[in-house]
Amino acid sequence: MAPDVRELLSSRIRDVQDYPKPGVVFKDITPLLADPVAFSALTDALAGLVDRHGATKVVGLEARGFILAAPAAVRAGVGFVPVRKAGKLPGATLGQAYDLEYGNAEIEVHAEDLGEADRVLIIDDVLATGGTVDASVQLLRRAGARIAGVAVLLELGFLGGRARLEPALGRTPLDSL
Ligand code: AMP
Repeated sequence: MAPDVRELLSSRIRDVQDYPKPGVVFKDITPLLADPVAFSALTDALAGLVDRHGATKVVGLEARGFILAAPAAVRAGVGFVPVRKAGKLPGATLGQAYDLEYGNAEIEVHAEDLGEADRVLIIDDVLATGGTVDASVQLLRRAGARIAGVAVLLELGFLGGRARLEPALGRTPLDSL
């Protein structure tokens, strides 16, 4: 990505101290979404990754991943598949449980939306510990898809998400814009 585009995107992400709890710096992407030039540049970059990695579908992770993934899928000319928190999808689902810092969570996908011919690009806004992406990779593989890549707007490197994903991803690209 061109340095000026990277600079533009960075400038539209707001740090919110102590949200949603003390000690956390929340990366708020709403200023970027509200800027049509920045949002369009981000969409172009993500659609470029769909092409580069030969993805046949884009998977968005609830909830902010949906906002980034859907326009990228449309721009790249491929379908969009949501990975949702458990209990939100009406059809036949596959589920994947995973651990959080306190407690656990489960995500689901409509199994019929993916097939063995699919290579998916997983998109989310922030890679933190990597737990959400790790669970998504496992879920999507169980649904029969291959993982073409993972793309996030930004990565909190000090939380070690990239290292955590290494065993699952191997040489599969993990792009943080
Ligand atoms: P993790 O599973 O730890 O990688 O967390 C990733 C998910 O939590 C993503 O869907 C993000 O939207 C959200 N998230 C985690 N940390 C932050 C943060 N500091 N700012 C904004 N979103 C975050």
